[in-house]
Amino acid sequence: MTTIGVLALQGDVREHVVSLEAVGARAVPVRRLSELEHVDGLVLPGGESTTIDKLLRAFGLFEPLRARIAGGLPVYGSCAGMILLADRVLGAGPDQRTLGGIDMTVRRNAFGRQVDSFEADVDVAGLAGGPVHAVFIRAPWVEEVGEDVEVLASVSLPGGAATHIVAVRQGVLLATSFHPEMDADHRLHELFVGMVG
Ligand code: GLN
Repeated sequence: MTTIGVLALQGDVREHVVSLEAVGARAVPVRRLSELEHVDGLVLPGGESTTIDKLLRAFGLFEPLRARIAGGLPVYGSCAGMILLADRVLGAGPDQRTLGGIDMTVRRNAFGRQVDSFEADVDVAGLAGGPVHAVFIRAPWVEEVGEDVEVLASVSLPGGAATHIVAVRQGVLLATSFHPEMDADHRLHELFVGMVG
């Protein structure tokens, strides 16, 4: 059985465990290096990317995880997790670093105060069964992607003309601005588990 870790330093860990188990994976919280060594893939949950970054460094996980991602570990990052997977961040906190892996620039808290949190039905390329009901909470968007990055979904704000990238994939790395784990729709977790398997 595929074992997927959920980084459990901060954020909505429990919801990801439920979604992963719903699609038939074994899900284990990861707080220590020894736990990281035993997973086939990893979920980086939403939360606060600056805090997760600090905790990764405090727990001695930052460099080992960065190296595993560079070495081909499949990872799915949601919201703060998307920021952690980005090679470049706009609006980063002081000293904030990312694990990197996806050749993209993300903007933190991009949707701004007016729509700090909102929900939208989002079509995700490659997902059968209609749009995903996506929950955005102080979410980033993707401003720019490199040529190896596949754009899976974009949204436009109510009344706005511009569209913003909110889901991407590069190889075995998947990232969404939104939180699919907050819904009973597990298709993105299913997609990720398939990428790991
Ligand atoms: N705004 C948060 C950050 O910058 C992300 C919010 C979230 O994960 N829901 O890390």
